[in-house]
This record gives sequence, structure tokens and C-alpha cells, in this order.
Amino acid sequence: MPLLPNSSHHVLVLNCGSSSLKFAIIDANSANEIISGLAERLGSDTPSIKYKYQGKKTVLDLASGQAHAKAIDTLVNLVKDHNLADNLIAVGHRVVHGGEHFTKSVLIDQSVIDGITQSATLAPLHGKANLLGIEAAKASFKGLPQIAVFDTAFHQSMDKVAYLYALPYKLYTQHGVRRYGFHGTSHYYVATQTAELLNKPLAHSNFISAHLGNGCSVCAIKNGKSVDTSMGLTPLEGLIMGTRSGDIDPGLFNFLTTQLDYTAKQIDDLLNKDSGLLGISELSNDCRTIEEAALAGNERANLALDMFCYRLAKQIAAFMVPLQRLDALIFTGGIGENSDLIRSKVIKQLAFLGLDCDIQANLDARFGSQGIISSENANTTAVVMPTNEEWVIAQDAANIAQEQ
Ligand code: ADP
Repeated sequence: MPLLPNSSHHVLVLNCGSSSLKFAIIDANSANEIISGLAERLGSDTPSIKYKYQGKKTVLDLASGQAHAKAIDTLVNLVKDHNLADNLIAVGHRVVHGGEHFTKSVLIDQSVIDGITQSATLAPLHGKANLLGIEAAKASFKGLPQIAVFDTAFHQSMDKVAYLYALPYKLYTQHGVRRYGFHGTSHYYVATQTAELLNKPLAHSNFISAHLGNGCSVCAIKNGKSVDTSMGLTPLEGLIMGTRSGDIDPGLFNFLTTQLDYTAKQIDDLLNKDSGLLGISELSNDCRTIEEAALAGNERANLALDMFCYRLAKQIAAFMVPLQRLDALIFTGGIGENSDLIRSKVIKQLAFLGLDCDIQANLDARFGSQGIISSENANTTAVVMPTNEEWVIAQDAANIAQEQ
């Protein structure tokens, strides 16, 4: 629904992680960021908040041990000090896991909190942090509608064939063990923007979007709807990521526990925190650092990049099964939007799908620019499309607030 013109549509967007809180006040009409910031290392000895307002960056230290509630308290004071409260019409929360309860963004009431609490058993760290953020914002911004926007919602259009694991069926019916997928807000946003760029109705568009940041996932979008995605029950499945392994043989669990005495917690940490680009390169989880090292001749950095691109290309090719026809391959996220090297390596391996890179257009697509990077010879379009999850959250929140 279009927003009403000429009225204030400032939305406070909160993205609460286990030890961090990203926030921004966004004009839902124009996507303008009024203020934005990040509270980090919450609950540790050195928590802090940095924020940007009118081009000026400020860092505030919090007292040792202070966590989400204090960060939101500080944020409330910032909003008041800068006279930003009067224009706020809603608070939009990014919620990582919506399970099967939530297929779209919703106004938060007690039944929604109960649903998020239930879904949180599937992603305890994220879920707990999301609930903390909601409770703290409800207390601090009394009277403002609070809206939940779910990372999983866009993927609720997947079919059973795509979302079930070949496990005993009752694990699904009794415990919700299935593939959910994440990054849904981003995949949805870049798909709508790409449809606009290509002047094609989204409802008739088949895209594969690759969201490549610290977490990475690919989504197969058929006639504008998610039909498959690489992440699963948790954001660990699928592609090689900054510190996550992505797909592995589950038989590894038995080997690690019986032969190397790993505990469940150690295996979880190994796969989530010590693997991926970091695990292979033994250098960094940061793609820029790895690209620089590879350029300087570091073999392991080179191997990490090659593995990352090979797995990504393989996943994209696999998604041709549900799609059959591909209108565009979309790159987004910090790596997708900036790394011409990764994009060109992936496109080269997918030449059989009619993809071909325009060298100059690929080099030019960075720092938030959007555009087509496939060459005139290509039969299939490739685009770089910067994501803007915060804007989607602000728009959904403003629309739902407007309906109240
Ligand atoms: P998050 O998932 O935390 O939101 P981002 O989407 O910001 O992460 O992506 C972070 C990743 O993007 C990092 O691996 C970083 O190295 C990579 N990145 C950013 N700029 C570049 C660049 N110019 N070249 C290669 N990788 C880049």
C-alpha cells in the first residue's frame, strides 16, 4: 500500500543481535537515514555505542556489563536530545526467526510475542536478543506501534519438496525441524529493485539472488516468490561464509565426538565461528583481507576464494532445477556489491547458463552503485543490486502503523 504523502513517516528500525544492536531512524518514503548507529560488545567489559547524525560520527562508552536495555535507554536519550521523537510513527524490529507462524510483517501484540518466543527455540541466541529488543522498545517508546519483520517470512512460499529434510517426518510435525531460510527481506528487496531495473513485472520474473555478506545465502525466486534457498533450519546451511562452514557431511558429528572428544557446543562453535573463509585461509573472515592476501600470493587465501566461488556457482546452477528459466542473477551484500573478483569468478563458471561478464561494468559496480554487469554477448543478465533491509523494515512498519 502506498504511504500517505506529505506526512511524517520516520521509523525507528532495530536489529538486535546477541551482543549488538543496530539502529536507524529512516524516512519510509525517501529511504533517508536521519540517524544510524551500532551498539557493540553488549554485556562485555567494553560495551560502546557509535552513531552518525548529520554527517558527524560519535562514540559513547557504556559501563562494563551493560547490555541491550541500557543501549536502548541511551538510544532513547539520543532520540530525545536530537528532537527526533515527535516525527516517529513506529518501531520496526528485524526478527531473525518467524518459524511457520509468520508469513509477513505484523503488528506486535502478546500473541506475536508468544509466536516469536516459540520460534526462538529454533534460533535461541538470535531469538532471545530479538525479544529483549522488543521488550525494551515497548517500555521506552510507549504508544508507538511496534512491528516485527521476519528474515524467514519471504521463504514461506517454498514447497514441502524444497523445505523438508529427509528425516523422520515427525521431527517436522512435532518439533518444526525443516528448512526455513534467512535473508528474506534482502532477497525480496533486491528482487523488486531488479524487476524495476529490467522493467519487468516481478510476478513474471525468475531470479537467483546471491546475498553475500558475513552470512551468505542464495535464493531461487520464481514468478516473484521464493521457491528455494540455501540456508535451512539455521543460517549455517548452504554456502561457505565468513566464519560458517555451510554444508558439511553430518557424519562429521560422530567423528568429532567419538574420535576427538568434541562436545555439542564445541562443534557448534567450530562450524559457526571458526570455519568458512576464516577456517580455510587461517587469516581472516573478511573477504577484502583475503583478496589482498591472495593478490600478494598467499596460496591458502587463494584456495579459500576458489572454494567460496565454486560452492556458490554450484548452488546457483542447482537452482536452475526449480526455475528452468533465469531472467537475472543478482549479486548483493558487502561481497556481492563490492567484489568484482568474486563476481567474475562465479560468472565464468556459469558460462553454460548464458552468463558473461562485462569487464568494465563489473569493475565499476561498487560502493552502493547498481547496474547490469553482463556483456552484450550474454544471454542471461547479471546485475549488482545494493540491498537495503532497513528500508523494507521501515516501509512495512509505516504501512502497518498507518492501518491502525
Ligand atoms: P553483514 O552480513 O555483517 O551485514 P556485509 O554485508 O557488510 O556484512 O558484508 C561484509 C563482507 O563484505 C566482508 O567480508 C567484507 O570484506 C566484504 N566486502 C566489503 N567491501 C568489499 C570489497 N571492496 N571487496 C571485497 N569484499 C568486500
